[in-house]
Amino acid sequence: MLRLFIKLFIFVIVSRYVAAQHRICGNEIFWQDRMSKEKRQLTDDLLKKHSYHNFVGFRSQITIPVVVHVLWFDPSEDISDSVIKEQLEILNQAFSRSNYDITKVPEEYKSVTGSTNIRFCLTNTTPENYPTDGIVRKRTTESEIGLSENLYDSEAGGSNVWDSDRYLNIWVANTGKFISGFGTYPNQTPPEKTGVVIHPKYFGKNNHPEYGLGRTLVHEVGHYLGLYHLWGDDSDCTTDDGVEDTPPQLKAYRGCPDYPQAGCTESEMFMNYMDYVDDSCMYFFTNGQCSKMLMTIKYLRNGLLENSAVCSHPDKELPEIKIYPNPGYSRFLLKTRNLEKDGIVSIYNNLGEPVHIEEFKVGDLREIYLKNCLPGMYFVKIAGVGSAIFINN
Ligand SMILES: [Zn+2]
Repeated sequence: MLRLFIKLFIFVIVSRYVAAQHRICGNEIFWQDRMSKEKRQLTDDLLKKHSYHNFVGFRSQITIPVVVHVLWFDPSEDISDSVIKEQLEILNQAFSRSNYDITKVPEEYKSVTGSTNIRFCLTNTTPENYPTDGIVRKRTTESEIGLSENLYDSEAGGSNVWDSDRYLNIWVANTGKFISGFGTYPNQTPPEKTGVVIHPKYFGKNNHPEYGLGRTLVHEVGHYLGLYHLWGDDSDCTTDDGVEDTPPQLKAYRGCPDYPQAGCTESEMFMNYMDYVDDSCMYFFTNGQCSKMLMTIKYLRNGLLENSAVCSHPDKELPEIKIYPNPGYSRFLLKTRNLEKDGIVSIYNNLGEPVHIEEFKVGDLREIYLKNCLPGMYFVKIAGVGSAIFINN
């Protein structure tokens, strides 16, 4: 009966989009099925009580242990270890505001782009304390197991959850023709069904023309950590995502819209990860969204912090960043060794606010000019490389 209801609901939702064949996040369907509005409100009220808009985060980096369950029917769905590792790197870049295209954020939103100190990595320890690479791989006999209750049951061809209080479980499994994936909200599901499900077609970097940059997982982990779609539940201006620095939004956006788009405001924030646009057109979370995700970890998913497992694939030794002259006067030269690919250099003041962002290429010796910056200490960060401090006299 439940599955019939879900399929009927999918049909209703899908019929709105079927002509376009766009990505549909299952949260649009499943939260109504599995979580009442009242329960969702209670969860939000709990976070709001701790005023998440003002929460600045944890002092040190948070590492979230991840297990990826790959359940494949067609051999093309048996994604490789390297695709999984690359997908986690994309996730980490999104959560640390170090994605290569962060410079595309429109000027009006640059001051609200957010960053967290959350890092996701494949775990090296099973719940029973055995060593692991954090990947469970299984062939299944069900072609669309991603939408089936069997997904969560090893006896029925799926893969049992790893203690979802202590691990982020990601199931990569076929969710049918229309659903790209879903992430369960805090308090939404029983522990054995808590985590994120992604269709392999949308997982990691792949050849999907619109959704091939691994941002479906970024979006779904956003839900898992308490975020809603920017437009709220309905296509009007009365529902919102409850985050202060994302403006009210009329509807979901698709494709890669021209900027700006007027709706509830003169300019809607459709380039946010929690919208539906193409992967190449979504680039950021806001400060408010980042705070809500950190609050969710602190109050609703704090078992993740108590897991002593470490990463099965530790970071490579990072190349060093050189800055000179230092101290200096508004300008310095920046270079790094062993940078493997082009990246982004971001500079923050001592309040953690971004003051300068620009692209940085392999082999660059770059002069950086900090226009209109007060004397003081600045943090210079190159995505995926490391950071250094510049003293501006
Ligand atoms: Zn969604």
